[in-house]
Amino acid sequence: MPDISKKDMTDAISVLIKTQYGLTGTLTRLAGENENYLLQTPGNTQFVLKLADENTSSGMIEIEHLSVERLIEAGLTLCLPRLVPTRIGGIEAQFLTDTGRLIRGRLLEFVPGQAWCDVLPAGPDRFAELGRTLAKINGALEVIVHPDAGRTHHWDLAKAQQHRPSICLVEDPERRRILEQVFLSYAAIAMPLFAFLPRALIHGDINDDNLLVDKGRIQGILDFGDCLENPIICDLAIALAYVTLDEPDPLEAASQVVGAYHRERALSMDELMVLFPLMCTRLAVSVIISAQRRKIDPLRASWFVSEERAWKKLKFFNDILPADAAVHLASKTGLAPYGDRGKPILELLKERKECIPPSMSAAYDAPLKIIRGKGQYLYDFHGRPFLDLYNNVCHVGHCHPRVVAAGQQQMARLNTNTRYLYDGLTDYAQRLCSTLPRELDTCYFVNSGSEANELALRIARTVTQRSDMLVVDGAYHGHTGTMIDISPYKFMGKGGKGFPEPWVHIVPVADGYRGKFKGQDSETGKAYGDEVGKIIRKIDRPIAGFITESLLSCGGQVIPPSTYFKTAFAHVRAAGGLCITDEVQVGFGRVGSHFWAFELQDVVPDIVVMGKPIGNGHPMACVVTRRQIAREFANGMEFFATFGGNPVSCAIGMAVLEVIEEEGLQYHAGQVGSHLLKGLTALKACHPLVGDVRGLGLFLGIELVLDRRTLSPATQQAHEMVNRLKNRGILLGVDGPFSNVIKIKPPMVITRADADMFLRILDDELTDMEHTQ
Ligand code: PMP
Repeated sequence: MPDISKKDMTDAISVLIKTQYGLTGTLTRLAGENENYLLQTPGNTQFVLKLADENTSSGMIEIEHLSVERLIEAGLTLCLPRLVPTRIGGIEAQFLTDTGRLIRGRLLEFVPGQAWCDVLPAGPDRFAELGRTLAKINGALEVIVHPDAGRTHHWDLAKAQQHRPSICLVEDPERRRILEQVFLSYAAIAMPLFAFLPRALIHGDINDDNLLVDKGRIQGILDFGDCLENPIICDLAIALAYVTLDEPDPLEAASQVVGAYHRERALSMDELMVLFPLMCTRLAVSVIISAQRRKIDPLRASWFVSEERAWKKLKFFNDILPADAAVHLASKTGLAPYGDRGKPILELLKERKECIPPSMSAAYDAPLKIIRGKGQYLYDFHGRPFLDLYNNVCHVGHCHPRVVAAGQQQMARLNTNTRYLYDGLTDYAQRLCSTLPRELDTCYFVNSGSEANELALRIARTVTQRSDMLVVDGAYHGHTGTMIDISPYKFMGKGGKGFPEPWVHIVPVADGYRGKFKGQDSETGKAYGDEVGKIIRKIDRPIAGFITESLLSCGGQVIPPSTYFKTAFAHVRAAGGLCITDEVQVGFGRVGSHFWAFELQDVVPDIVVMGKPIGNGHPMACVVTRRQIAREFANGMEFFATFGGNPVSCAIGMAVLEVIEEEGLQYHAGQVGSHLLKGLTALKACHPLVGDVRGLGLFLGIELVLDRRTLSPATQQAHEMVNRLKNRGILLGVDGPFSNVIKIKPPMVITRADADMFLRILDDELTDMEHTQ
């Protein structure tokens, strides 16, 4: 656009006002973000001329005009910036300067009064008046329908996620920490509820500059330029973010506004739940936009007017727990958000000591009481949200509504057992088998991974008429007696007897990072596979089979090199054994490229064991094998599991498969997973504590070491890291033979934004740990 001097601009505007409005007077540029001029006519009437920028459409101006007229029509006794039509009745005037610049402007009636922020303190009466006024505004605007109302802009509170990646522009780590927390609450508490919040056209920027006060009363409202369709509660959240900026007890002040608002326009529980996160997010967006603008022009004071006040308040709000904030904000509405939290944590811990066995543990140094889950998020007693990067059971997301509904509906209709006929059993078995290679066509349904592995072992032993099994070092297959016997993770671990049963033979983990052979290539895979052959040859009895996870989880998130399974299975089969793959942790599309992790190595096992994600948290598991093996197993002894394959479980299992397919979660896992792995690889390059990062799809591991040469495990640091990450709202666990591998295996619905937040926070915490060690 051709440049124009200040004087030329004023001259051009004077001409525009004269020719198109028939007015003359003195023009003064007004302070603030937008290009606005005050026009003082000789008769002492004042107007404001607002210049439109290239992004301002006539639709937007129409919405502005409609909003103001609607508030007047609804009887709001406020001074409002009414649009003055041009001589020919237009809403906008245009003028082409000599230099070729098109000036577009609209003339508004002047609204007298002082800005809210210049008339402090406000006091309870003004807060109550604000509540009533906002409710009336929202009530009046609700009826406006305009095709351009669906617009957005960079202050759009319902799209604040767009600013999340810019957290890194803030240099101070403590401030970044606060912003990460705010955006986590926004993503976890507010965003999932957006779909359930009433929406309408809102003002969109009721800040303490746009609210005018006269003699202690609210007199007017300015600037309808940010009007847009949004969750209605955003207006209240924005106003509260600003009018409490200088309040010593901001939540008390805000509760007065909320109480008065609620009496005029009833708020829903969901609106009260999102209010505090939205207030904080508005402040966070404001400081992030300031950080962005500082890069453009650090001296433009009008851009930074509320920055330090916003930071001060963000810091203050950061110490307030979401549940306490919601309860306080709602205290004058008669509603009780977070009303069903149960017993306090200390009481619960005491009770656990009295009736729960001491061998059962609670995660983290300071255990969490989780009261709710949704998607990839869990919410604790205090309403704090956590990004769950650990729970591969709730595969399609915590409490997925489709899965919940499937269970509830079937539960309300019928639950029996497999001795009766019902469609659900065979429909589900067929659907499950359709995800597998053709040979794997027969399903046994049970209730847990342990039970499924028990059955797999029994099948192998019955069919081969042999007892001896090969198991992988560090593996875990379940908690029952025989499963402990085939789980080196347990029998070699704390409290274990320290040596295998005579029928159990341990083969090394195909670990290309820490093991005997290094690398991920097929030669390494073959070398590890041949180790299996060597061990078979040393056993003086024939083997029944080999049980292995397709990728090793408790063993330390190990991805066996290619050709490993082909080679190992060939040795096992040559010795007459069956090959069992335990997909309890890694199946159902988690690896992204394939539905089952064994498919990565182009092998077909004889028996596949499924658990955890199969029911998204409902206790079910399955053993799938070949028809011929199932025939040989049918030696006269009936197979019956009371709950296995019951109609409710089948309905739930079916819903899980449908959701995976319909939401494209396997593909999504591949995409987000490789993005995460790329980010982790970049972190490895700058943090020596990270010895190795590895994984496929959303099954990833970060191995921490003290020394990259000796691979000395950083066990204590890994423990500390998961506790640090928990304190920053991210749930992870540690595993592996040296307890130094951070395991990432989240619900498959995590987003790129979640992954990016995790990477930023991990980077922060690694940096901090390196400095403090
Ligand atoms: N196999 C593997 C690989 C597992 O990780 C687990 C559980 N952690 C099991 C089997 C046992 O499953 P469950 O706890 O459902 O009995």
